[in-house]
Amino acid sequence: MYDFLIVGAGLYGAVFARQARDAGKSVLVIDRRDTIAGNVYTEEIERIHVHRYGAHIFHTNNKEVWEYVNRFAVFNRFTNSPVANYHGELYSLPFNMYTFNRMWGVVTPEEAREKIEQQRREAGITEPKNLEEQAISLVGTDIYEKLIKGYTEKQWGRPCTELPSFIIRRLPVRLTFDNNYFNALYQGIPVGGYTKMVRNMLDGIEVRLGEDYLQNREKWDAMAQRVVYTGPIDAYFGYQKGTLAYRSVRFETEVLDMPNFQGNAAVNYTDRETPYTRIIEHKWFEFGKDAQGNDLPKTVISREYSSEWKVGDEPYYPVNDEKNNAIYAAYREMADSQKKVIFGGRLGEYKYYDMDKTIEAVLDRTRQVLGEDA
Ligand code: UDP
Repeated sequence: MYDFLIVGAGLYGAVFARQARDAGKSVLVIDRRDTIAGNVYTEEIERIHVHRYGAHIFHTNNKEVWEYVNRFAVFNRFTNSPVANYHGELYSLPFNMYTFNRMWGVVTPEEAREKIEQQRREAGITEPKNLEEQAISLVGTDIYEKLIKGYTEKQWGRPCTELPSFIIRRLPVRLTFDNNYFNALYQGIPVGGYTKMVRNMLDGIEVRLGEDYLQNREKWDAMAQRVVYTGPIDAYFGYQKGTLAYRSVRFETEVLDMPNFQGNAAVNYTDRETPYTRIIEHKWFEFGKDAQGNDLPKTVISREYSSEWKVGDEPYYPVNDEKNNAIYAAYREMADSQKKVIFGGRLGEYKYYDMDKTIEAVLDRTRQVLGEDA
């Protein structure tokens, strides 16, 4: 009998396991996949750490979280600065003075501010009610049309008028010449990849891979006092209250016989016509834009295609619109009455968590849970 059975060896599960173990609890971690690390999993191809389930750039303002992850990995000094490609026109992201200069020829922050203000006024938006209105009120119609609309509709498969505005507020807008995508004090990628970091988190903890909890729930439940479930919450309850919408992502990964394909880790294709949302060139997460990267004669790229999740696909992003949030609320109520089970992570809480927020959530939760019976 274990104190905790942890379902899912992703970030939520691994951090929970570490905290429980360090508090002297016995822990078993299981995962449906044959690999640990969930969607932060990285694998080595051509001496490059490839982010198999999509690009992950660690960034946080939380010093406790930063110090926590640094126990398990050395972080490099990668700074995310994606480029947007709109029909061959290249723009800097996030939205900053380089973007505004390229879009409108404006040179000073005051000119940029006036331009945005003028476009917002012409659009007649006072209180943004959805992603489209929020985007226009933040950066104006030109940027919305060229850099946001197509990309967002490809990524989410819904019109921007039907999406919640918080999604676009993830991106900074600044009137400085600063291409750093994140407003975060701390940022980087684990040297040696995320899998290594998660393996270090799970050091000394029993992990069984290729085990599907939902296939044999009774057997697993009988093995532990408490269960931490990080899979989709609707699947846990047998879809009783309906199916939650997720976006899934498909990656077409290629090894190319050239040292440098696109000169940057991420290039977003923001037009509606290109079928993929972005291309990731994995080596640039590791080596920075210097000569070292070119020592590797080959490069690995992944084209990212977004689609609506259906049974059998991998869920990536919860679609937190009103309809789905209401379904989630019904599951949440059921979850709250299950005293034995803790639901956590992007899928367990149906929440568009970044990695740092995931860890923050586990640290909060474990302080409570492990404190309760201390
Ligand atoms: N977004 C956009 N154009 C871009 C990049 C992002 O319109 O070139 C919007 C899009 O709606 C996306 C959201 O900003 O869903 C959040 O982007 P982020 O990079 O945070 O998404 P993630 O990396 O988590 O997929």
